[in-house]
Amino acid sequence: MAYLREIITDGHPTLRKVAKKVEADELRDPLFQQLIDDMFETMYHAPGIGLAAPQINISKRLFVVDLGEEKDDRGPLVFVNPRFTETEGEVEAIEGCLSVPGMIGEMTRHARVVCSALDRYGKRFSVEATGLFSRCLQHEMDHLDGVLYTDKAKNVRPAVTEEEHAALAEVEGEADGIARVAQAVRGTDRDAAPQAEAALSA
Ligand SMILES: [Zn+2]
Repeated sequence: MAYLREIITDGHPTLRKVAKKVEADELRDPLFQQLIDDMFETMYHAPGIGLAAPQINISKRLFVVDLGEEKDDRGPLVFVNPRFTETEGEVEAIEGCLSVPGMIGEMTRHARVVCSALDRYGKRFSVEATGLFSRCLQHEMDHLDGVLYTDKAKNVRPAVTEEEHAALAEVEGEADGIARVAQAVRGTDRDAAPQAEAALSA
C-alpha cells in the first residue's frame, strides 16, 4: 500500500539543502522501500513525470521518474545516489516544477546525459537519456543539490495561456500536456526536445 506525501513548495528550507547520500543499509529498510512506493504514488497523483525526495521533505539523494512510455528503460525508474557520467550539448525548452506551482520558464539543459545510479535494491545501472527524459533527469538531479529551475531559467512567469499550461508538462507538469509531450518525444531521440517544443507551441 502506497500513500500520498505532501509536496513542499518553494520557500521550504528542505528544497534548498544538499541532500544526503543514501547508505546501503537504508535500502534494506522496509520503510525506505515504502518511501519509494509513496514517491511514485505522489508523483502519479500530482501528476508529474519526476519527483525527488526533497520535494516531499526527505533530504536524501534519490528520485523517481516515469515518462509514461511503454519502453522499459524510461520508467518507472528509481535513481538512488545518481550522478552523470557523461553530458553533451545544450538545448533550451520550457520547464515547470511541482514545487513551484503554476510557473514556467525557459531553461537550458544538456541535450544528452548518461546517468549512473543504484536501483531500489542497490543494484547499479546506467541509462542514456535524450529529449524530455534527459531534461527530467537533470531537473531532478538539481533538486538533490538544493537547486530549483527558477534559479537559472529565463523569463520565469505564471502559465497563462493554454499552451503555457500544456508546457507545464515539461518535466513535472499536468497530465494532458504530458501525453502530448510523450507523443512528441516518442520516436527519434536526438531531435526529441525540439519536437516536444514544437508540440507545445502548436
Ligand atoms: Zn521540480
